[in-house]
Amino acid sequence: MSEQKLYIAPADPNSRPLKSNIFEYARMTNAQLAPLFPFGKPGSLVASAAAFRSDGLEPGTFHHSNTVEEVAIIFGSNIPNFRVGSIQVGALEHDVTGPPAEYPPAYVVFCIVQRQSETGVQKERIAFHCEKCHNLMHEHHFDSSKWEGDLPILHTISGSEEAAVGFNQSDKVCSKCNHTNEEFPAWRWGWGEYVRRTEICRDAKQSFIEAAGK
Ligand SMILES: [Zn+2]
Repeated sequence: MSEQKLYIAPADPNSRPLKSNIFEYARMTNAQLAPLFPFGKPGSLVASAAAFRSDGLEPGTFHHSNTVEEVAIIFGSNIPNFRVGSIQVGALEHDVTGPPAEYPPAYVVFCIVQRQSETGVQKERIAFHCEKCHNLMHEHHFDSSKWEGDLPILHTISGSEEAAVGFNQSDKVCSKCNHTNEEFPAWRWGWGEYVRRTEICRDAKQSFIEAAGK
């Protein structure tokens, strides 16, 4: 039997070691699924934070498809099926929602980890269905493999925002049962604000670089 030697590759100089406390991070971030670390190129393990509370409001529901697996680690919760310390691996196609409005104040802070594809397109799809008959109302496909520009955005966030805007700008009337659906409460998910603040910070950083160069 030959002896196989295993090596750990040296650290990538472009991915410096960082640590983050999910509770300290989740209280400051403005969006669900905000990456804890600024690294998301192909092959990266992207750990993102989400913090929900019911607050008597409907959280909104959408359907998500992803070509890479998402692993959820529950760090804090009072919801029975989100037991603290549990690790859950969902199906590649799954519904996404927050605690329902009728719950007593239900809260959860969790981390979703996904490993970006090494090569090729990483397909994601966000879809909204009729709340009454589940007929498909609106869908948006996007490629999440890209990690580009200064202060890159995880495309899951920008793609989800584009999907929500598309649905909310439609008439939301189901072609099958004629039900007029509620607007998706995108403000509770924060994706648009994350994208907007990224754009602000990109411009601000550029002005900083230009000023420093004078
Ligand atoms: Zn319907």
